[in-house]
Amino acid sequence: MTARMIPLRGARNPVTGTSGTNPGSFSNAPAVGGKLAYSSPDTPGMPPPSDRTAWDFLPDGWRREGAFAVAPAGFVPVTQLEHARLGIVTKEMRRVAEREPHLTAEQVRDEVAAGRMIIPANRVHLSYGLDAMGVGRAAKTKINANMGASPVASDTDSEVEKLRWAERWGADTVMDLSTGGDIDACRDAIVRNSRVPIGTVPIYSMIIGRKIEDLTEEIILDSVRHQAEQGVDYFTIHAGVLREHLPFVKARLIGIVSRGGSLLAKWMIVHGKQNPMYTLFESICDVMREYDVSFSLGDGLRPGGLGDASDEAQLRELDTLGELTERAWRRGCQVMVEGPGHVPFDQIEYNMKLQRQVCHGAPFYVLGPLVTDVFPGYDHITSCIGATSAAYHGASLLCYVTPKEHVGLPKTDDVKQGCIAYKIAAHAADVALGIPGTRDWDDNLTRARAALNWEKHFELAFDGDYARALHDEDLDVDTDFCAMCGHDWCSVRISKEIVEFTSGKVEGYERDAVVKSAALTPEQQATLQKRGVLPPEEIHRLASKTRKAVGAEKGTKAACHSDVASDTDAERLQQAKLITLRIPERGADAE
Ligand code: SF4
Repeated sequence: MTARMIPLRGARNPVTGTSGTNPGSFSNAPAVGGKLAYSSPDTPGMPPPSDRTAWDFLPDGWRREGAFAVAPAGFVPVTQLEHARLGIVTKEMRRVAEREPHLTAEQVRDEVAAGRMIIPANRVHLSYGLDAMGVGRAAKTKINANMGASPVASDTDSEVEKLRWAERWGADTVMDLSTGGDIDACRDAIVRNSRVPIGTVPIYSMIIGRKIEDLTEEIILDSVRHQAEQGVDYFTIHAGVLREHLPFVKARLIGIVSRGGSLLAKWMIVHGKQNPMYTLFESICDVMREYDVSFSLGDGLRPGGLGDASDEAQLRELDTLGELTERAWRRGCQVMVEGPGHVPFDQIEYNMKLQRQVCHGAPFYVLGPLVTDVFPGYDHITSCIGATSAAYHGASLLCYVTPKEHVGLPKTDDVKQGCIAYKIAAHAADVALGIPGTRDWDDNLTRARAALNWEKHFELAFDGDYARALHDEDLDVDTDFCAMCGHDWCSVRISKEIVEFTSGKVEGYERDAVVKSAALTPEQQATLQKRGVLPPEEIHRLASKTRKAVGAEKGTKAACHSDVASDTDAERLQQAKLITLRIPERGADAE
């Protein structure tokens, strides 16, 4: 065989210890503190990163002195960006470093100062117990879960329940997108009950009880201030949709799909004026700075279908978002930028790298993107594929999509499905980027799998309850194979029998004997009921455990375990005892 060069590009293998697995990461070598941090190699033709950062957009009266900046006399820093520019490490930066063990608090400060990381942490929400987190390319990829009451469904209690559900399933931030019910009370309840940053789109509440045409500058600033006072950590502000962009929408398949973008476009057409979010931008910045509310610069012209991706309307708005990033940095505000939407897989890298250039490395917060439009009901999957690519190529925060996208308001289980799809995307990208330590989790689960240590396997699994229920659906005993291949065809068990090959076992993963697993929990029983594969009596048997059938008493191995039974005996025992857990084939009784 010809020797092959593996394109490692200098990245370190993230596995700790000496048992690392080749080939490690094919991504670029880490450059934390520089413009790339963790990055994918550029496909030829991709836009290079910007040479500028937030340091090039200091407020009036500030000057650089050494590594940091000096503010005018008497200036009191408020935002994380202002503290970072002055060289101050805040307790929120220290907390971010604790949660990102590959970064020091000083590196977090420097990334915030450069505008490449934000810590969305409203001072009011911090007083309620917000756990500070960072969004940026030097940090691990984060996910956002959307929720909120609509005019036709849901209420405050349900939304708080969804919040708890989203936190349980790993959402790093939550957006309250309520457009119905008691919006104010719902927002207040969500902020007070959340440990994760909360984002909102303030224009939604601005038009409750009035037409968009009646929106005034006073209403805009009052609403922004009210929500800042409530403790919201980041605002989507659609200031990038300009009058000049609207003619480009005509050529689209689906026009403007952003709620905020479409409302503001209507306002501009009715009044014949520029977007008030754009003209009022500095005043909005000043309110947000007071509470350290971060910007999430909205992409009001994001594509709503593959055919509209990377079109003139979207890219012109992106240029404006770059300008707004600079203006917000000059007012001391933290900024991330929102991105598309629906993008064919081959255009994702370009979209990520164009934003990196135009917005000078400000964190990119993307919705999906969906890589195909023809699977409604499964858009958590179509978008999770795009989100994985987006995170590998440049996004820092992934806004989840649930199975209800385009078709209805998500319920709690949809929130779970969306969160899990996006945890997969974020983690897969972090492993690919070679962020130190991220792959340890995978390697540990692989060791448990190689050792056929089912307890450890499910303990390490992201949703161990679900995995355990699926295992026990076919085989309610932990032995040295599972129902997928059965005893004789279990390659992991066979590998274990090859003396020279240790099957990846290491200390701490070997089991002394078959271990009785606990009976199914009510949640695991519910999982199996929902799948509809086993009849209720079989689920009941699983709940009370029938492992005596194979002699797996406490401290003993199952009678069919390869350590105590020949292959023939094991097969006979499985046929006689274990397969009885499977339901008869449909129609078998009639034959
Ligand atoms: S039976 Fe097949 S799927 Fe199950 S542990 Fe063995 S090799 Fe893996």
